[in-house]
Amino acid sequence: MQHLVMVIEDEEALALMLRYNLEKEGYKVLVKSRGSKALAEIEKERPSVILLDWMLPEMSGVEICKLIRSKPDIKGIPVIMLTAKGEEEDKIKGLTAGADDYVTKPFSVPELLARVKAQLRRAPEPETKKELMFEDIRMDLVEKKVFRGENYIHLGPTEFRLLKMLMETPGKVFSREFLLKNVWGDNIYVESRTVDVHIRRLRKSLNEFGPDYIRTVRATGYAVDINPQGEDEQEETSEE
Ligand code: CA
Repeated sequence: MQHLVMVIEDEEALALMLRYNLEKEGYKVLVKSRGSKALAEIEKERPSVILLDWMLPEMSGVEICKLIRSKPDIKGIPVIMLTAKGEEEDKIKGLTAGADDYVTKPFSVPELLARVKAQLRRAPEPETKKELMFEDIRMDLVEKKVFRGENYIHLGPTEFRLLKMLMETPGKVFSREFLLKNVWGDNIYVESRTVDVHIRRLRKSLNEFGPDYIRTVRATGYAVDINPQGEDEQEETSEE
């Protein structure tokens, strides 16, 4: 299996050199030059390891590192900080921020590759979950079946993918745009209303056997959540 290495580095020449050498080593490589963009990308792509430059425009490497460590779904990803020579203090700050390792520029390529490899050895295998659970809802991802308690729930393929997306991060609100892109795919033209239609079908199937755990957040999107009986609910038909 091919590991994804994310490089967050604004020096173009260095980023290119890293890409070239990492790809030669058989890794998939994703380069970002700005931290603000990188974070969303990390959450989406879940790289196996991150090479993070210390000095970046907008948001420093240390800030990014702290943010990574504060997010439960990505905090386990190893981070190797890249910094200028001799900045001992930076090294300490970097490690305090939660970096796993530290490489001083200019570094030798074999050394860097060895560090990457060491982090990958430590890192857990990328998760291939067989099951997702939320309260009494259970998704068997191998058999592609959904249960509520003991009850089997038949879902269409789109509803299944939609529920899977929501159940991977309970509590997180997914926008219609995100769901369209990630459940239906980039190339298919569908209106954002389509999401509402499928959510309605999903609710109908799920709620036959228990309370409604799909939360509608007005003008935003949907989440799987313990539904507070509140004003957010059941508004999807009247929007737009
Ligand atoms: Ca830099």
